[in-house]
Amino acid sequence: IKKKGKKYGKIAHTIEQAAVLGAGIMGGGIAYQSAYKGVPILMKDIKEEAIAQGLEEAAKHFSKGVERGKMDTAKMAEGMSRIRPTLTYGDFGTVDAVIEAVVENPKVKKSVLAETEEKVSEKTILASNTSSISIDTLAADLKRPENFLGMHFFNPVHKMPLVEVIKGEKSSEEAVATIVDYAHRLGKTPIVVNDCPGFLVNRILFPYFFGFQQLITDGADFAKIDNVMEKFGWPMGPAYLSDVVGMDTSQHVEEVLAEGYPDRMAQDGTSSLDVMVENGRLGQKSGAGYYKYE
Ligand code: NAD
Repeated sequence: IKKKGKKYGKIAHTIEQAAVLGAGIMGGGIAYQSAYKGVPILMKDIKEEAIAQGLEEAAKHFSKGVERGKMDTAKMAEGMSRIRPTLTYGDFGTVDAVIEAVVENPKVKKSVLAETEEKVSEKTILASNTSSISIDTLAADLKRPENFLGMHFFNPVHKMPLVEVIKGEKSSEEAVATIVDYAHRLGKTPIVVNDCPGFLVNRILFPYFFGFQQLITDGADFAKIDNVMEKFGWPMGPAYLSDVVGMDTSQHVEEVLAEGYPDRMAQDGTSSLDVMVENGRLGQKSGAGYYKYE
C-alpha cells in the first residue's frame, strides 16, 4: 500500500474530465465521489430511470454534507453541476479517463468497452470497475490494451477507502500511475494488484459468502448469523452485506470465481443466493433481499 498521496510512477496526464459508464449503485457512487472531490464527470447509462436515480443518490450525499455543515447550498449546486448525465457518447471525445461500471458480465463489458474505445481519444484511459473478471480477458479485443486496466471501488463508494488498481499484462505503467493519482485525488487508498479472477479482496470476501450460504442451506437463520458476525466485530453481517452488494452482481461474481478456481469455488446445487435472484429479491436496490427495505 502506497502512502497517501505518494506517486506510483510517471503519470500519462492528470484526470481533469472523467466519465463513468453505468449510473447504478457503483456508477452513481463514483460520479458523486468525483464531483465531490472537484473532478467533473459525465455519467452515461442506457436507461433514463437509472440516471435519475444516480443523480438523486448524489444529491442525497451532497445534502448530508450541507446538513452537517461541511458545505453550503452553493457548494452543493457547484458539486452537482460537475455531474453531467447523458444517454449518448456525444462528449466522450474530450475525457481523460472512462470508468466502466455496467453489469458484471464479460460479454456486455467487452462490447461496451469496444464501443467506448471508438468514441474516446487515443490518450483516454479506460478502467473497469469489475469485481472479478480478469482484466486480460476484458482487454482481449481492445485496440489499445496499454490504456486499459482495472479500477475497483468498493460499495458504498463515498465511505470505502480502498481502491484496487489492477494491472493487466498489457496495461502501461503510465496508465497505472494515472489511475493511482486519480484515486488519491478522490481521497481513496489505492493498491496496485496483479490480474486474476477476483483480484485480492473478492478472493477473500466470496469464500466468506460461500460459507454463509452453506450455513443457510444447512438450515441456519440469516439474521442470527448477522448478529453473531456483528458481535464478532464486523460492521455488518453477511446477509446484510449481500443486500448492499446486490444478489445479481454477487451471482455473476460467483460464476466468474467458479470458472477461475473450479477446485475451490465451484458449488453444487442451488444456493440461497440463486433462490434470491430467482425471486427478484436483489437486495437494497430492489427493495428486498434477505431483509426488506422501504
Ligand atoms: P447496477 O445493477 O446497480 O448498475 C448497473 C448499471 O449499468 C445499470 O444502471 C444499467 O442500466 C447500466 N448499464 C447496463 N448496460 C449499460 C451500457 N451499455 N452503457 C451504460 N450503462 C449500462 O450494478 P452495480 O452494482 O453498480 O455494478 C456495476 C459494476 O460494478 C459491476 O461490474 C460490479 O461487479 C461492480 N462492483 C459492484 C459492487 C457492488 O457492491 N455492487 C462493488 C464493486 C464493484
